[in-house]
Amino acid sequence: MNALALPPDFESRVLRNEPMAKHTSWHVGGPADVFFTPQDERDTAQFLSQLDPAMSIMWIGLGSNLLVRDGGIRGAVIDTHGVFDQLERINDNEVWCGSGVACAKLAKQCIKWGLGPAEFFAGIPGTLGGALAMNAGAFGGETWNHVLSVATLDRAGHRHERSASEYTVGYRHLSGPANEWFLGARLRFELKPDVSSEDIRVLLARRKATQPIGEWSCGSVFTNPPGDHAARLIESSGLKGTRVGGARVSEMHANFIVNDGSASAADIEELIRYVQHVVEQKHGVKLHTEVRIVGEAK
Ligand SMILES: Cc1cc2nc3c(=O)[nH]c(=O)nc-3n(C[C@H](O)[C@H](O)[C@H](O)COP(=O)(O)OP(=O)(O)OC[C@H]3O[C@@H](n4cnc5c(N)ncnc54)[C@H](O)[C@@H]3O)c2cc1C
Repeated sequence: MNALALPPDFESRVLRNEPMAKHTSWHVGGPADVFFTPQDERDTAQFLSQLDPAMSIMWIGLGSNLLVRDGGIRGAVIDTHGVFDQLERINDNEVWCGSGVACAKLAKQCIKWGLGPAEFFAGIPGTLGGALAMNAGAFGGETWNHVLSVATLDRAGHRHERSASEYTVGYRHLSGPANEWFLGARLRFELKPDVSSEDIRVLLARRKATQPIGEWSCGSVFTNPPGDHAARLIESSGLKGTRVGGARVSEMHANFIVNDGSASAADIEELIRYVQHVVEQKHGVKLHTEVRIVGEAK
């Protein structure tokens, strides 16, 4: 049987050969064999349970931390943004947030509820699902500092409730039960009656002054090595402004690679490897990518 075959009711609802460039903040990436935007949890569970078990699956949020290679993604991509969109206060300190909710929306809603510190989520241009997978953080806050438990779906479409203690959490890193994806999380915050949207505005203005916000990027390309900053190492290696095709190391913030509009994923990946090579030669430090590089080369 063709591993990419789908039951007829799903076949009419998926996109075939969908360019991933439309779904990533770098605006690059080749086609996904199958691209599915489910209606809700039940629909997702049915889709997963009816797929050939050989078909590989990838869930995405807003594609703000993804470099999809130019050959695209074999298998199925499940689009979650706006799908798992429940956001509600469960009790004084606790919130349920669906994985498809944009982090900025979570930040704003917590301010309305007088809960914090959640302002840092406004600096993460992804979904809660992506933030859980990455343990995203900004302005001193980190996603998993607030997670009490999560709900997940496995490859067969079964739901699991898992406590935070079932995961190992690190800097921009998470490991836990394999082949499961996040439906949402129960999050805990403190009561902060004086928090206001002005707090978010100040944080974002600070960021806008130091980062090339508005240009096509995925934020920081590399994680910071212990005790140092990737941006400092890249800048002091003389790499600001270095180009491969349409990809360039930002002059404003050396840990950002921006797409000037004409870059391919191969340009960006080549520039990433070049930066790693030069920094290792000059400083003896191996930089590791924060961005997830996925898919096949062309
Ligand atoms: C301008 C800019 C600034 C940024 N600043 C920051 C920052 O300050 N701090 C920071 O941490 N990051 C930052 N980022 C990176 C990015 O926004 C975060 O990593 C974010 O958490 C990614 O979320 P996403 O929804 O876009 O995930 P995607 O990029 O779509 O996916 C990222 C990973 O998460 C997985 N994933 C997505 N959804 C799910 C799910 N529901 N279940 C399981 N796995 C899932 C994907 O498979 C993939 O491996 C920045 C990016 C940009 C473009």
